[in-house]
This record gives sequence, C-alpha cells and structure tokens, in this order.
Amino acid sequence: MSTARPPMTQSSRNAPLDALRHDASKLLLALFDNALVGVYVIQDGLFAYVNETLARLFGYTQDEVCGRLGPLDLTDADTREHAAQEIDKRVRGEVRASFYGFKGTRKDGSTFDTEVFGVATEFQGRPAIIGILMDVSKRVHAEKEAADQLAFIRGLVETIPNPVFYKDATGEYLGCNKAFEAFLGASRESFVGKSVFDLSPKELAERYHAADQALFDAPGTQTYEAQVKSADGSYRDVIFNKATFNRADGELGGLVGVILDITERKELEARIRQDAYFDSLTGLPNRRLFEDRVGEAFKLAKRHHTKLALLFIDLDRFKEVNDTQGHHIGDQLLIEAGQRIGSCLRESDTVARWSGDEFIVALSDVSDAGDATRVVEEVIGQISRPFHLSGQFAQVTASVGLAMYPDDCDNIEALLSCADQGMYAAKSAGRNGYCQFVPARQAAARARRDLAVDLRDALSRHEFHLHYQPIIDLKSGHIVKAEALLRWNHPSLGNVPPDRFIPLAEEMGLIGPIGDWVFQQACQDVMRWNQQRPAEHPMVQVSLNKSPRQILDGTSEVHWLDYLNDLGVPADYLNIEITEGLLLDASDEVFRKLDIFRRAGVEISLDDFGTGYSAMSYLKTFAIDNIKIDRSFVQDMLSSPSDQAIVEAVIAMAHKLGVRVVAEGIESEDHRALLIREQCDFGQGFLIGRPMPVAEFMARIQADAPARQVPRFEI
Ligand code: C2E
Ligand code: CA
Ligand code: CA
Repeated sequence: MSTARPPMTQSSRNAPLDALRHDASKLLLALFDNALVGVYVIQDGLFAYVNETLARLFGYTQDEVCGRLGPLDLTDADTREHAAQEIDKRVRGEVRASFYGFKGTRKDGSTFDTEVFGVATEFQGRPAIIGILMDVSKRVHAEKEAADQLAFIRGLVETIPNPVFYKDATGEYLGCNKAFEAFLGASRESFVGKSVFDLSPKELAERYHAADQALFDAPGTQTYEAQVKSADGSYRDVIFNKATFNRADGELGGLVGVILDITERKELEARIRQDAYFDSLTGLPNRRLFEDRVGEAFKLAKRHHTKLALLFIDLDRFKEVNDTQGHHIGDQLLIEAGQRIGSCLRESDTVARWSGDEFIVALSDVSDAGDATRVVEEVIGQISRPFHLSGQFAQVTASVGLAMYPDDCDNIEALLSCADQGMYAAKSAGRNGYCQFVPARQAAARARRDLAVDLRDALSRHEFHLHYQPIIDLKSGHIVKAEALLRWNHPSLGNVPPDRFIPLAEEMGLIGPIGDWVFQQACQDVMRWNQQRPAEHPMVQVSLNKSPRQILDGTSEVHWLDYLNDLGVPADYLNIEITEGLLLDASDEVFRKLDIFRRAGVEISLDDFGTGYSAMSYLKTFAIDNIKIDRSFVQDMLSSPSDQAIVEAVIAMAHKLGVRVVAEGIESEDHRALLIREQCDFGQGFLIGRPMPVAEFMARIQADAPARQVPRFEI
C-alpha cells in the first residue's frame, strides 16, 4: 500500500533553510560545544573561543583558555615557530586556510600530536582565525611505529650477507639489498621495475619466470637450485629460497627471495667425491670406485650371460726405478703406465689404481678368454716400452693375473683373488708375462706347493725307502733282476706314489740327492742279496731308474762308479733304466755320460719302450742292453692284434740287434705264455711279484733256488 504525498511548493522547500539562518548562532554554538574535535577562534594572538573538547585535550577548562592563552602557549617549543608562521600567514591574509600538524603542550607539560585546519575570518569586525584541532597522536604514533618497523626491516635486509630481492605479483623487481647489487654487479635502480627477461640470458630468464609463476600459482614457499650469471660474468650455482607475501588487503603482493651461493660448496663436494673415488696421483678410479663399477658390470654380466675378465697388473722392478731414479720419476711412470693401460681398453672397460704399483682392469662383455688375453698381451707390450720421463729413461715390465667370470669364478671376491694369485704366479714364473689362475688348478697348485715343502725335508727325515720288484728269466722262471722303486712314506699323506713326487723332485732340483740316496741304498741291498743268495742261484741284478734330469744335470757318474768300487759292487750287478724321451733329444753329452757307465760294465735298459717314438734307430746309435716293453702293450696284446704284432716285432727286431727284451706289466698266465712263446727274455709284473720291501725280496730269492739238475742218462 502506498501513501500519496502532496506536491512540494517553492516556498515550502526553502522553509528549513530560513529557519536555520534564523537560529544559526545558537546552532553553531551547540555544535561547537558538542563537537568531538577541538574548535577554536583566535584573535589578537589569544584564543577568543575554544570549545570544551579542545580545552579538555590540553588539560584546561574553557575559562582558563579563552581570553587568557594564545595558540603558542599550547604549542610545544619545537613546533612553535612553525605554528606562529602558519597563524601569521592567515592573519595577514596571505592564505585563507591552512592545514598543518604541530605538537601540543598540555597544562601538565606533556605533549601530543595534533593537526589543525584553520580559516581566516572576521570576528566582531576584526580579523580572526577559526579552526578545528584534532588529537592525532594515536595515528602519528602508529605511523611512526610503522616507519620504525620498515626501517628496521630495511636495515635487517641490508645486513643479510646473502642477496635478497623482492618482486611484485607481476614479477617486476621492487627492490633488493646491497648483497644482491654486488652479486649481480648492478645498482637496484637499474632493475627496479624490470622483469627477469630484461636482465638475464633468455634461457635462465625463462626458468626463473616459470619458477616465479609456479610460486604465484601456489603461494607459499619455494626452493630450487639454479645457475645465475654473476657480476664477473661467471655462472654461479645457487639455491633460491622464495616466499610470497600478501598486501594489507589480503591480496597477493609479490615475492621475496634469498639467494644462497653454493658454488664453493659444490666444488668442495666434487673435490671430496674426487678424493673419495679417484686416485690423486694418476686420476684413475681408486679401489672403492672400481669395486662399485665391477659390482655393476658383474650384475650385467650375470643378467645377460656375458663374460667378464679381471686383470691384476703389477709393475715389475718399479721399486728399483723409485729407489734409484727418485719418487718424482716413479710418480710420472705410474701416471703414464695408467695411461698406457687405458689406451688398450674400450670405453666400457675400467682401469683403476689398486695400490702402489698395482693396477686393476675390468673388461666387460668379452667373448672368450682369447679376447681377454689379447688385451693382456697388449698391456704387457705397452708397459715394456721405454718410458721417457723428464729427460730420464726408465724401463719396467708388467706381471698380469687374469681371471674370467663365469669360467674361473662365479663371484667378485673369488675373481679378485684369482686375478691376484694369477699375478703372483706370473711373477714367480719369471715376470713380464701373465697367468690365468683357475681355482681347480689353484687347489692342485696348493697341494703341490705343500708337497714340495715336505719333499725338501723327506731325505733328511728318512721318509724314503726302496721296494724291489722281481724280474724273472721267462725261460727258467728264476729271478734275475729286481727293479728298485722308490717309496715316500709321507708323515700325514702316507704312501705318496713316485709318479707324483719324482717330477716335483726334478723340478725342484732335488732329484740329484734323492737319486744318489737310491743308488747307494740299492748298491748296499744288491750286495747283500747276492752275498746271501743260494750258491746255485744266478746273480740278481738291480735295475735303477735314472731320471732324464739326473742325466742331463748330474755329475754323479764318476762318483757312482767310485762308490761301486769302494763298496766292491761288481758293475754288472747294476742296470740303469733310462726313458726313450731322453734319447730323443739326446745330446752328445747324454751319450757320453751313459757311455761312462757302459764302459764300466753297467747295463743300460730303455724303459717304457713304445710310448714315445720307439725308433729302433737308437739301438743302432747307442748300444742298449735291454728294452723294456711298456706295460700298456703287454696288457692289451691279448685283446688287440696290432698290440700283439708290435710286441712280437719289437722282440724279433731287438733280438736281431743283440738286445734283450723285458716285458713289463705281466698280470696273467696268458700274458706270460704268449711272451714265452714269442721268446721274450725277461718278465716283470704283478703275476710274478709286486714291488716289495728288501727283506721280503731276499726271502723270495731264498725260496727261488733252482732245483739241482738231476743228470739223466740215456741208454
Ligand atoms: P716305471 O719305471 O715304469 O716303473 C714300473 C712301474 O710299474 C712301477 O710303478 C710298478 O709298481 C708298476 N708295475 C709293475 N708291474 C705292474 C703290473 O703288472 N701292472 C701294473 N699296473 N703296474 C705294474 P711305481 O712304483 O708306481 O713307479 C712309477 C714310476 O716312478 C716308475 O715307472 C718310474 O718311472 C718312477 N720311479 C720309481 N722309482 C724311481 C726312482 O728311484 N728314480 C726315478 N728316477 N724314477 C723312479
Ligand atoms: Ca723303470
Ligand atoms: Ca717302465
């Protein structure tokens, strides 16, 4: 429902204004008296009027002020002059109105901040100023506090040693601190109001901008690493720590950022990493990094079923270079040796300095051992080339151990250990070479080494003794010879077969003394059994095995003959068995030595006949008394016609040359029967008797006495 209003007339519209004019002075006074701001009228330098608010602000009553105090009485000494000037200007009519602040002094002497707005006017026909005054001390105080805080923050930001900058929400620089200016080598004026695109190289600017944008999209904090082009033009590694800030109205104001220069730290880290993983002299990876890399290579090889080779390289004679030519030259040699080794490798291979003059190499993905040995040979060749170092000349060689995965070892530790042992084996084999160390061989080698150690003392510890194996005259069946076979009773291994220790003794140069012992023992035994044999029993010769080394190296021939003489052993008690192999590469020296025995009356037998070249021509070149057909022919002759043919042919041919034949390895009556039929002279083998101790053998001779021939008369 609406109520219709009567239309307004001209006179009714002006009625309130007329009323106001009529009551103006009353109204004004009421307004002044009740105003929340101070109101004053100044005339002739004194307050003609102040309202109650103003009087109260200054700690007075209206009566104490009006007509008694002037404005300067209420003004603090510091601002009094300023206030006087402002008042004068209006009183003189220079300005009509002015607005200014000053410090007011209360009745009690305390001060406060005020602002006044005064207008020149007339009061009772004379110039006066009417104005209002406000207590602004709270606002001034707040402003001052804000200014103080700002100054504090500015000071703080300036004293931060890291570069600090701030930008507005569009990404334009608002300001920065001194450190930022110094870092970029530009004054703040040169970039305030600019964006990163105005200041940084394009690709860096794009990165910074994207980061800023990401931060503005998700306000908060942000940290990232980047590079900054610094004052001297170099790029520095830095960390940006940034945070957004809001304006008083809660809207995004921009961002503030702190730059942490981590270039030195990164360099230090890189140096530490270098020290931790690389050898400081050669710059090659060290043991630690090598182990890491080989671990990786090993995993790959396992997964892809490929081969991996490890080379352990030790420089021979390096110590000598170091000692005689100085450490400086030694160091240079190591550096160059590392480079030379590296030159033999592919990108995927790793070379590292293991320690001192030892290097280690991992070859990944090798197709076979041949692949690896080609690299090894190249390394050895490279190292043996002369080194020219600071005008000096040095030469070394390399001993290399090689081990392969999976051929030799199936784990890294074993591979390292094999390569290491291979290197030592290469060293002991004469240096400047390499050796692939295989664990199966390793065990055998260790056993051999242990055996060698014990063998050295076996003679002095009386661990040797002789067994005798009877050899019979196949026609009569009587024992006419015995082969002396050496036995070693090892303290923990028991009986070690001669096949195992005789080659070792030859290698170790022990066969001479051992052979001498066998000879002396056999001489004593052969004397004893011949002295004690039944009168009707034929003489029983002893057959001694003389190793090829013994003949080639030995000087025993003459001593042995002296010994025979001293003991009074007839030379024909003795038979010496030599192998075919010996005659094959026989020098005149060998023939000369054997000849000494032959001429003294000692018989010579050719042992293991048939296993070598079996050239009957020896029999022509050198007068041999007996041939011993190897037991392999005897054992196979019953089942193999060709073996039988060989046995028959050897016997027939030997007989033509006046050489007698011993068949070894007779194990059955069939063997014996066949050999008798072929007119083989002598027989030896388990059927006739196994090798036995001398006492047992002597008992055999006693029992072996041929039956007295009973004369048979014909009629
Ligand atoms: P060898 O000279 O061929 O010695 C004969 C080997 O044949 C002996 O082995 C003997 O036990 C074995 N033997 C004999 N009859 C038979 C048989 O019917 N069947 C089979 N299966 N084997 C038979 P042993 O005693 O083990 O000697 C092995 C080798 O050691 C000898 O072969 C010889 O070359 C060497 N040897 C033994 N004593 C000495 C020694 O004092 N000095 C040197 N230098 N070598 C020796
Ligand atoms: Ca023999
Ligand atoms: Ca033999």
